[in-house]
Amino acid sequence: MTAIIYPVIYILIVLSPLALIFINGPFTDHGYLYEMGKAFALMGFVIVGMQFILSSRRKWIERPYGLDMIFSFHKAMAVLGGILILLHPVLLSLGSGNFKLLTSLSLPWYIWLGKFGLFLILIQIIISLFRIKLKFGFEKWRLSHNIIGGIFLVGAFAHSIITSHADLKLGSLQILWTGLLVVALSFYVHHKFMIPAKLQKQRYTITDVRQEVHNVWTLEMSPPEDHNRYHYYPGQFHFIKLHREVAVPDEEHHFTVSSSPTQPGVVTSSIKESGDYTSTIRHTKKGDTVSVEAPFGRFSHVLHPEDKKFVFIAGGIGITPIMSMLRYMRDNKSKFDALLIYANHSEEDIVFRKELDDMVAEGSPKLNIVHVLDHPGEGWEGETGFVDQTKLTKHIDNFKDKAFYICCPPAMRKMVLKLLKKQGVSTSQIRVEIFSL
Ligand SMILES: Cc1cc2nc3c(=O)[nH]c(=O)nc-3n(C[C@H](O)[C@H](O)[C@H](O)COP(=O)(O)OP(=O)(O)OC[C@H]3O[C@@H](n4cnc5c(N)ncnc54)[C@H](O)[C@@H]3O)c2cc1C
Repeated sequence: MTAIIYPVIYILIVLSPLALIFINGPFTDHGYLYEMGKAFALMGFVIVGMQFILSSRRKWIERPYGLDMIFSFHKAMAVLGGILILLHPVLLSLGSGNFKLLTSLSLPWYIWLGKFGLFLILIQIIISLFRIKLKFGFEKWRLSHNIIGGIFLVGAFAHSIITSHADLKLGSLQILWTGLLVVALSFYVHHKFMIPAKLQKQRYTITDVRQEVHNVWTLEMSPPEDHNRYHYYPGQFHFIKLHREVAVPDEEHHFTVSSSPTQPGVVTSSIKESGDYTSTIRHTKKGDTVSVEAPFGRFSHVLHPEDKKFVFIAGGIGITPIMSMLRYMRDNKSKFDALLIYANHSEEDIVFRKELDDMVAEGSPKLNIVHVLDHPGEGWEGETGFVDQTKLTKHIDNFKDKAFYICCPPAMRKMVLKLLKKQGVSTSQIRVEIFSL
């Protein structure tokens, strides 16, 4: 139900400046085009204010949708907010018939403040949309994103309050955007300062570090003595910030919890060395500490009780959430039918191979595994190449009665989704975890 109510509330809040303008009538004698120019800026401001709430990782916001969906929405709304704010000076000029706002350099300082805000928000959107193409590092982007967002919000607020005092009496609108500023800033302070301070005080401890295969390491984390391990569903993920003795950056990253909640007292993450930060994971030592924010995500069969027969499709390290679910099924002696299609480059890359084989032998869940290798060594008798139509139809007897859980690299995901669509699988049967937010 909340999944429907939240969007309605969101739309009502974003449209509220428009409604107030129409209810109270034009505040100047420039007419509705000019007022729309003001309303667009206010709606843009409301959207930016709501961005702070959307990205605050509050559980009650995230739970109905999953964090990936919230962040996709956050991205789309940033573009919409940017367009509305960009149209603001254009409509004001068209509405008043006076284009000095766009062309003149001799403008009051609070108008320049607005122009500076517009410039900042456009830079922010362009960098965010094209970060990878622009080779802008994630940490640098995150820092600039937080700083620019905060400066914009306060600057835009000052601009709008001062300009409205100068020529209008917009009492109800001023109350609305003052309230929004206070709410947005309190979410920001809570997310950026209060939560990290709390997590810092309640650090987990690394109690084991194991090498799974040549480039994947499992970290086991235990809560502080006077705390219980947090509750989670198999397949969910957490944000962790390792505090290590070796001189490596204290960055926050998200990783799936590869253990099952049935394992008492600890959580594990299995991490592949794939980039700047993850390539330092092997330097983690027992006794290092870690701030943990959790749990997040909806990629869990427990959250979809309607699913009874499973096809898990994993590529490489995408096995981790699936492993968590399979471990949970095993520990609960579940009799679910499950097929795991697990793609890797070579046999050396297959993570958790022995444990998966043991699960097949134990029979709960009733698990079949199809390994697919694109660089098979000599003597490999299993499937080779990529996951394709032939392999899917060979190993899946009926596509209609299964739930498909997919976690793999982007190219494979795209291909698998296309193949499933061809087989008539509906989107309601498909759950996807994406390893980037
Ligand atoms: C829900 C989810 C679950 C995941 N589970 C696992 C898992 O179980 N095991 C595993 O090995 N990997 C997992 N990942 C992927 C993992 O988070 C990234 O591989 C890792 O953060 C990349 O960091 P890097 O600096 O080593 O790589 P880089 O090559 O430096 O960065 C690669 C990309 O990772 C992203 N990234 C980099 N730094 C951060 C950061 N601090 N916060 C967020 N994103 C960042 C950016 O998109 C960047 O472009 C998961 C990701 C998500 C979203």
